Amino acid sequence: MSATTSGEEYRDLVICNSCQWAASLLKGSTGYSACPICGNAALDTIPVNDYEAYTMNVKNKNVEIEFTKD
Ligand SMILES: [Zn+2]
Repeated sequence: MSATTSGEEYRDLVICNSCQWAASLLKGSTGYSACPICGNAALDTIPVNDYEAYTMNVKNKNVEIEFTKD
């Protein structure tokens, strides 16, 4: 493991349920109060531990997030 700063230990996954925009944020970053694409303020924030791998699939109106651990 390489050295990491505290901001890299943890991150949040932010998803807009309106337009399926999504982004990963480092913990401690400002984040988003509303979707930058459609302006929806009801964003879902999902904390994701750095050691957890995940894949995100967007199918029609559904966002599927699959978490995998080694
Ligand atoms: Zn949006």
